[in-house]
Amino acid sequence: MPTSARQFSTAIFSIIRIDKIDQMLKKTPKKIPMNAAANKNAPKKNGLARKSSKKAAEVAAASKPRKISEYHAHIYYDPQNTRGRAARLRERVAIEFPDARLGRWHDELVGPHTQSMYQIAFASDMLAAFLPWLMLNRDGLTVLLHPETGNDYRDHTAHAAWLGGALPLRLEAFGEQRPDE
Ligand code: ZN
Repeated sequence: MPTSARQFSTAIFSIIRIDKIDQMLKKTPKKIPMNAAANKNAPKKNGLARKSSKKAAEVAAASKPRKISEYHAHIYYDPQNTRGRAARLRERVAIEFPDARLGRWHDELVGPHTQSMYQIAFASDMLAAFLPWLMLNRDGLTVLLHPETGNDYRDHTAHAAWLGGALPLRLEAFGEQRPDE
């Protein structure tokens, strides 16, 4: 074989080998763990997994605070024992936070509530001022603070904050609305 032909064939051989080594480096060490990781996180093809991934997307969407249109603080009281305290708190809120909307007194139980209460509705931009004030001035009354995101069930359960300890709620009051609707 002439020298130039041997050099040419050696060069081709080297190119092939380099190409193979390159493929091995690319495929063998990387692709196995990548596939394993991809399979682990890939959405399953059955309905249940699709539903849970849809639910996860909804939870992520609902978790954005810009979905909060306003807040409610439900002030609970006992008509026999703590109505006076609730009335004083109400008067102070009206003076200190004139933009808050004070709801009617509900001595009779309404909606999901298992104690008498009235509601204070207020805009999102009032939260930073009103929440600490309420923490310091609730006078021993239990308060349910919840955002309004359009899902009443979730707003009164997973999204809710309680001052003074959580009270039971009648969640069936939300009717057919399910947690992920
Ligand atoms: Zn409410």
